[in-house]
Amino acid sequence: MNSMKVKKGDKVQVIAGKDKGKQGTILRSVPTRNRVVVEGCGIVKKAVRPTQQNPQGGIISMEAPIHVSNVMLVCPSCGKPVRTGKRINDEGKKVRVCKKCGKDID
Ligand SMILES: [Zn+2]
Repeated sequence: MNSMKVKKGDKVQVIAGKDKGKQGTILRSVPTRNRVVVEGCGIVKKAVRPTQQNPQGGIISMEAPIHVSNVMLVCPSCGKPVRTGKRINDEGKKVRVCKKCGKDID
């Protein structure tokens, strides 16, 4: 299994590329390609053919998946982009831990 450090619903900060410094929520993850789609980041313009939903066609803006190495998880406790560790909690579940403030993230 391919386990990524971040997952859908996580708040992340982009740390490289043209959206460096932006924060957003992960809308979708693409584990097979180690990529995530982050709200408002990695916007690309795409020409689309007219369809039934969009009879005009034309140019649309959409979020392209960005590589997970270009984002960092924003810790909900300390509010900063942080590195995470893992630990087994009291219920025997694997949880992510903020390496900055030491709080559980999941
Ligand atoms: Zn923290």
